[in-house]
Amino acid sequence: MAVYHQSTLSRAYLKETSDSSNTTDEIESINMIDELPISEERISELQEHTRKDQQMQELKEVIQEGWPNNKWNVPSNVSIYFDIRDELTLQNGLLFKGERVIIPKSLRTRMIKKIHSSHIGIEGCLRRARESLYWPGMNAEVKDYIQRCETCRTFERKQQKETLISHEIPSRPWSKVGIDLMTFQSKNYLVTVDYYSNYWEVDYLEDTLALTVIRKLRAQFARHGIPDVCFTDNGPQFDCGEFRKFSNFKHDTSSPLYAQSNGKVEQTVQTVQRLMKKSKFDKKDPYLAFLDFRNTPTEGFDNSPAEKLMNRKTRTPLPTKESLLKPKVITPNKVQTELTKQKQKQQFYYNQGTKDLPMLKNGDTVRIQPSNFNKEWKKGTIKQQVNIRSYEVDVGARTIHRNRLQLKHTLEDDNNEPTEIERDNSDF
Ligand SMILES: [Zn+2]
Repeated sequence: MAVYHQSTLSRAYLKETSDSSNTTDEIESINMIDELPISEERISELQEHTRKDQQMQELKEVIQEGWPNNKWNVPSNVSIYFDIRDELTLQNGLLFKGERVIIPKSLRTRMIKKIHSSHIGIEGCLRRARESLYWPGMNAEVKDYIQRCETCRTFERKQQKETLISHEIPSRPWSKVGIDLMTFQSKNYLVTVDYYSNYWEVDYLEDTLALTVIRKLRAQFARHGIPDVCFTDNGPQFDCGEFRKFSNFKHDTSSPLYAQSNGKVEQTVQTVQRLMKKSKFDKKDPYLAFLDFRNTPTEGFDNSPAEKLMNRKTRTPLPTKESLLKPKVITPNKVQTELTKQKQKQQFYYNQGTKDLPMLKNGDTVRIQPSNFNKEWKKGTIKQQVNIRSYEVDVGARTIHRNRLQLKHTLEDDNNEPTEIERDNSDF
């Protein structure tokens, strides 16, 4: 055993000891498997699949025996791991890249399904996956899976720029919240969103009276504290004596002429509705979707809403190392910097106007924006381009005309040759 494997753990340990003879024992006593908060049953399943996987076995051997100095001397089946060999460790029959557990080929699809079980978008799913799971080509596989997801394509987001939000940037969690009523399948809900963390709460409303709304808000404020500022529209629940009496905080309302200043809450309502629709379509628990959303780092931020509000990740069904679940302070400075960047980016895009969408080809599969938000995005095929921005679309029995903005290109029915990256991964 001429070359000792250089894992992050072993290097850290080697710095502290001069007696290298018992290094191996010391490393193995750092038990990563105890740190995976998943059931024993799931762990043994993961071990079992790792054991049965030819490539994982070869990788284990190379890690145990030491990596050759030259990539060409590595068994071809595992040479893809050569460049990250310093980060690889073996613990209780599981392989890790740093803190991320390496998933054997036979479990990868199931893991992708788990990451995407609440139909959170591509970037969100990737941010979550990268925190605790690893395999070569994971990003491309996750992307590809989501691009073909029927449920997601059925409930697409409108292709429009987000409205400009010119609110002041809050300096700490739950200092400024937006509140609005939401309807979902003829039931009423109250949505409360924290501008700082993007963490939101949803309450079922038995009716839409001011006193009912106030009762739900009292419970939320008992949980998270009383905000400094509440932002609402001019709905009758908020523009009344009861609400004024209740408000021991500053109450801001959107001006009827400038409704877009309510953008943050409206955007949140759409997010919640979309998550609920997708869960219903999939016959899944919407609360699990909420949990997933709250633990997905927000786009443009390093941390999730849960981390920004509570300084910790909350446990989800995804295997996650125990150490990642311990509290960790997310400094307001960091969040404010990211919020400022986000605001600048939004202003930049807003001022730039809309970007031109790429042209569609005959035969392209598309999803068609429904006339009303509560409806599904139906599938269609491009028949031909009519003029610069409009197309004839085949939707089963008939042909319809649609503007480019109302059509989203989808890869669901794309049976084209796999791309380079996908082909590279076919060995796994
Ligand atoms: Zn989906």
